[in-house]
Amino acid sequence: MSDNQWKTCCHEAGHAILCVKLEVVFDCVRIGPDEDDGVVDLTSTPIDDPDDDWTTEMLENYRTIYAAGAAAERLVFGSAREYGTKCDRKCHAKIETMLSEGRSNGFDTDVHKAMSLVTRKEIERVAATLQSTKRLTFEDVSKLLGVPLPWTTDIR
Ligand SMILES: [Zn+2]
Repeated sequence: MSDNQWKTCCHEAGHAILCVKLEVVFDCVRIGPDEDDGVVDLTSTPIDDPDDDWTTEMLENYRTIYAAGAAAERLVFGSAREYGTKCDRKCHAKIETMLSEGRSNGFDTDVHKAMSLVTRKEIERVAATLQSTKRLTFEDVSKLLGVPLPWTTDIR
């Protein structure tokens, strides 16, 4: 197992876990083909669909999710790879421009916020499964975390 691939798994697990905890649905989180490659396929984002009605709370959730990859690396390894967070910083900055308060350069603040919402144990559990299966759905990650699916919680 390469160190870089394990880091990528932990990084993507961080994004995916925060999505589940903040109820932002994604199709799947994937790694590969190269050891540095990983992505969370979000169903919809304020960047792709800027004309949708995004509440401040939703924008803040996305902002935290973009910071969660770096947060996961810091929790597990003590630091985050710079090249791995380049795109995340860009997306994070774009979301900040959509917030009326106009906060900017808050990436590190949100990394700390994300670090407080996830544990190292959760990251390692999801990352280990992601490394063996290469692909996890929103449902898979919810199950690994023991979190009920947002669309089933209203059923009684
Ligand atoms: Zn990332």
